Amino acid sequence: MDLSYTPEEEAFRTKVRSWLAANAPKESPRTLDAMRAWQRKMQEGGLLGAAWPKEYGGAGLSEMEQAILNEEMARARAPQAVNQMAIWWVGPAIMKYGTEEQKKRFIPKILNCEEIWATGYSEPSSGSDMAAAKTRAERDGDFYVVNGQKVWTTLAHISDWYFVLVRTSTEGPKWAGLTLLLMDLKSPGVQIKPIRQIDGGAEFNEVFMTDVRVPVANRLGAEGQGWEIVSSALVNERSGIAGGIRADHSLEWIIATAKERGKTADPAVRQKIADLATKASIMRCAGLRALTDQLHDRMNPHLSAAMKLMGTSLVQEFSETGISLLGPYGALMDDEHAPFNGRWAKQYLGDRSMTIAGGTSEVQRNIVAQRVLGMPRR
Ligand SMILES: Cc1cc2nc3c(=O)[nH]c(=O)nc-3n(C[C@H](O)[C@H](O)[C@H](O)COP(=O)(O)OP(=O)(O)OC[C@H]3O[C@@H](n4cnc5c(N)ncnc54)[C@H](O)[C@@H]3O)c2cc1C
Repeated sequence: MDLSYTPEEEAFRTKVRSWLAANAPKESPRTLDAMRAWQRKMQEGGLLGAAWPKEYGGAGLSEMEQAILNEEMARARAPQAVNQMAIWWVGPAIMKYGTEEQKKRFIPKILNCEEIWATGYSEPSSGSDMAAAKTRAERDGDFYVVNGQKVWTTLAHISDWYFVLVRTSTEGPKWAGLTLLLMDLKSPGVQIKPIRQIDGGAEFNEVFMTDVRVPVANRLGAEGQGWEIVSSALVNERSGIAGGIRADHSLEWIIATAKERGKTADPAVRQKIADLATKASIMRCAGLRALTDQLHDRMNPHLSAAMKLMGTSLVQEFSETGISLLGPYGALMDDEHAPFNGRWAKQYLGDRSMTIAGGTSEVQRNIVAQRVLGMPRR
């Protein structure tokens, strides 16, 4: 394995670093308009969809340059794009399975943030068992008529489009009757209800669909190809979740918290921090392995499952350590006495969701057990 960069790649890194130093906001944008503006600025600076062709609004750069961009974004603490989900997996799925018209229609507006996307797989009675989705799409001429309910749809309340898994057939195995539709969330018959979270936010939603008409031209891939499309999108989602974990920041924050509490001489604290740093390094090496697969055009669903499993547990370990360093003050969140503006309390609550989103840890363990370790399916 060669971990060095070419002179051209180093020059690209320097260019990106100075662009970020000049343009990245110091704090995450808070309003939707500000979030869109930051994403547009990133696109204008050539920092988005770097590996996608220029004809669709991408920057036309290499996978390696994309990886350098990601590293530099993390290093500069630059806020993520608001349309991150579309960039991580909806866009790549449209690029892989879409028609030319679909690519031209959707990709540029994903990148310039004119259209935000949400993902609809989970239903009240099917989350881990996604193949059991019941939302029905019946063909009516040049349209599908969709009826059903999705749940836990992240950002549906601010989204324009829906990457939604529907059932077009009940024949054969349950996964074979699934199809992927690109649904306009402003269509008549769509109702979105936000769900209040434990940390006070309301980022995900229930989505009810009653006789929603979706043009057949907005079907992604063939009828019955939904399972394949979603499985490949999930590999990107899980790699994205794992790759989006900025363990270096967490490590810095843990060290800052230990210093602020005067606990850096405590051997138990030192051991814990060393343990976290070791796990963060393992995650980084796994990320480089995933990048190598990507550079060789190899899809590695098993590595993405293992990385998602380990990365999300690590995130929780960081916030549990942060809270325990603060003692009883760790419980304070929206309070003037809350240390670090209640950051650890908020993070602790928010991080609970990480081992569930994108497929639970139990499901990732099943994948690792069966596909990596070759253990029998129960
Ligand atoms: C922050 C967040 C964002 C999300 N965003 C979206 C989104 O945008 N779109 C979307 O469609 N969904 C989204 N989800 C939903 C998420 O994909 C599901 O919650 C997840 O797949 C689990 O499904 P479930 O909640 O129905 O739990 P269930 O599938 O009912 O699982 C319940 C419990 O049983 C365990 N379990 C289930 N099956 C097995 C098995 N075979 N072996 C061992 N244990 C098992 C699970 O691990 C879990 O502990 C989001 C979830 C979170 C937390």
